[in-house]
Order: sequence, then structure tokens, then C-alpha cells
Amino acid sequence: MTPEEAIEKLLNNEMRLYEIEKYFSVKEATDIRRKFIEKYSNTSLDNIGSYTLDIEKASKRNIENPIGVIQIPMGVVGPLKINGEFCNREVMVPLATSEGALVASVNRGASTITASGGVNARVISDIMTRAPAIKTENVTDAIKIKQWFEDNFAKLKEIAESTTSHGKLIKIDPIIIVGNYVYPRFVYSTGDSMGMNMVTIATEKILEEMTNQTSATHLALSGNVCVDKKPAAINIVEGRGKSVVADILIPEEIVNKKLKTTAQGIVEVNTIKNLIGSASAGSMAFNAHYANMVAAIFLATGQDAAHVAEGSLGITSAENRNGDLYFSVNLPDLPIATVGGGTSIETANEGLNILGVAGSGKALELAEIVASTVLAGELSLLAALSAGHLARAHQELGRG
Ligand code: NAP
Repeated sequence: MTPEEAIEKLLNNEMRLYEIEKYFSVKEATDIRRKFIEKYSNTSLDNIGSYTLDIEKASKRNIENPIGVIQIPMGVVGPLKINGEFCNREVMVPLATSEGALVASVNRGASTITASGGVNARVISDIMTRAPAIKTENVTDAIKIKQWFEDNFAKLKEIAESTTSHGKLIKIDPIIIVGNYVYPRFVYSTGDSMGMNMVTIATEKILEEMTNQTSATHLALSGNVCVDKKPAAINIVEGRGKSVVADILIPEEIVNKKLKTTAQGIVEVNTIKNLIGSASAGSMAFNAHYANMVAAIFLATGQDAAHVAEGSLGITSAENRNGDLYFSVNLPDLPIATVGGGTSIETANEGLNILGVAGSGKALELAEIVASTVLAGELSLLAALSAGHLARAHQELGRG
């Protein structure tokens, strides 16, 4: 079959999108599929078809039915000084975004942080979770199954850990019962991988044992108590991925000079916007824009982009300490990796290399970097809002 014949077959519905690789290499199949889409959609895909990464490698673990690559502009901010437990140095942070002004704003925050001696960052929890939906006959049986999980923890831990050399089952908690349904939340540590595939495989093995040993059946490997890729209170309280906190004390003169505002101005904006405004709207995220920095680093370093839904959660706090500004961010739910998933895609690997965190032993360092960058962006935006308010106030006063 020639490529032209393959495109004709696709257009005539005589071949499925995923069957092209039966006759062609992955690279050729990618080109054929893209040319088919060009004809189908009557459009040109020259840019999507122009790339350097190894599409054959990516097709093994990252993408099905490939047609090419999307490009997102990447900028850099820094130097950002971090006084962390795992990251104790200055870093240049790559940010991939199409939102103009974001990089400039985060850069201003980074410059303020570095001039103030650096941001303190700490990882306070490091877990990944999977919670299947299990069906029993009635409430009495549901309670028995909950007890079975608790009684057999040691054995289930052994079974789970037989599937992975890095994953460890830490606990099964909580085990929620709703009528005859049971939702055990399996909590793992997953080393430097984000861990969703790892904990899914391990949990599946546990469920095999449950099916063999009890009358319960599992209806879904994920029963949404995990909670994967959705904002949820359980993740805020219990943590998911890396839970990270970061703070800084910024001297008054730096607040005035670099942020063009005052500590009190930022405290007021934080209270009225991030706390009262968010509460009024029933928001789960008491911050200005964590998602902006989280998304830009995730795209730059090959994280699972859908986890921005979780990384957007957290609370910003600010205090006026005699004119100096105490400022903190808290990110309870940051699923990230320096191994596995999309981190080995060539561009992502380069992004991780800019930060010096590619590969094993680096995930906690990356977590501190993400939280520190979030603090930089959060600080800069609140300062801009506060300075705008002050500028208007000055204008009004001047007129008076
Ligand atoms: P993965 O690439 O499937 O697994 C990580 C691999 O890295 C494992 O084989 C692990 O080996 C190995 N590894 C080597 N060095 C390691 C180290 N230092 N720390 C940890 N592992 C190490 O990745 P994953 O993190 O489990 O899953 C991420 C992927 O899951 C992403 O592509 C994401 O999009 C996808 N995902 C899946 C689901 C799902 O429900 N399945 C949901 C959301 C996202 P050992 O296992 O032998 O230790």
C-alpha cells in the first residue's frame, strides 16, 4: 500500500485511524494520518507536522493516533532563590504559556524574592491515591468488607508492592461506606514518578485478592474518591501528590521599590479577594492564580496537564509585620514527577534539565521549585492589584 492509497482508504472509511501502523512505520503513519486530516478538514497542518521529538518513542507511552506536535511558547524567569530542604540554590524556571504578561509578572516576583534572600519551601506530604468503587449486598456486608481491608492490610501491602519496585502502600484511609457501596482510598508513596499508572496496577492486584477472598465485586477501578484530576476537599485535607508550603518575609523597602505597593495594601487585597471573594463564590481555591504558574511549569516539564485542576488548589496568606510583608502559599495537591509519564519527551526533559531535576531522586526538589514559582506569581499579581488600587487612590486624593 502506498501512502496515497492509505489516505484514500481513510477518507473512504475503509481503514481505521489506528490501523495505519500495521503497514507503515510510526513516523510514516503519523504523516499519513496528518495528511488525511488536512484533506478531511480542508486545512494545512505544516506547523503541527514540523517537530524534532521522537514520535515513535512517544507513540509507545504518550500518544495514540499521532499527527504531530503542538508548540507552545516557552519563556524563563529567574534567578529565583529557593531555601528549601531539597532545593537550596538559585534556579531559572522555564514557563510554557500563550498568556502574554505572565512570564514578566512571575519574573518580577522572582526578582523580589531573590532580593529578599529567597523563599522557604517545604514538602509536608508525598502520596498518591487510588480509590475503587466496590459493591456489596447491603450495609452489613459493606462494613464487613471495610473490616476485611483493615484486617488484611499487611497482606494487601505485600500484594500491591509485588507489582512495583518503587511504589509502597502506606495505608487504606478513609474507607467510605455509602449504602452497599465501599470506597477504600489506597494511599501510596510512588518515588519520583507521579504514580497514577503505578498505583492503578497495584490496586488492581489488591482487588483481584478481594474478589477471590470475599463476595464483594469492584465496579470501577476508580470510584472518584481518589480524587484524580478534579478539585476536591478530600485532597485539600488529606493531600495528594506533593503537598508543599512556601513563605517569605519581604522587607518594607523592597515591597515599596520592587512591588510598588505596601505590605498593608497586599494584605487587604489578599483578604478581600483571595479569602472573602473566594468564600463568597464558594470557590475551593483561596488564591489569585496558582493555576497559571502550575500550568506553565507542567507544560514546560512534561507533567500531566490535567492535574492543573488539582494544582490550582491552595490558600495564600499575607501579614503586615511593621511594614514588612509576610507572604505564604500552600499547595496541598500537586501531582508531579521527574520520572515516567511525559517527563521523558525530549522537550520536557530539556525543561527539567534547565531546573536540574531530571530523573530519579529529584521529585521533591521539583515540588519545592513549583511552590516557589507559584509564590512569585501570586505575589506579583496581588502587588499589581494593590498598586492599581493605590494609584487610583492617589489620583483621587490628588484631585481632591
Ligand atoms: P509510569 O511511567 O507508568 O511509571 C513510572 C515508572 O518508572 C515505573 O515503571 C517505575 O518502576 C519506574 N521508575 C524508575 N525510577 C523510578 C523512581 N525513582 N521513582 C518512581 N518510579 C521509578 O508513570 P506513573 O507515574 O505511574 O503514571 C504516570 C502516567 O499515568 C502519566 O502518563 C499520566 O498521564 C498517566 N495517568 C494514568 C492514570 C490511570 O488511571 N492509569 C490516571 C491519570 C494519569 P517500578 O514501578 O518498577 O517501581
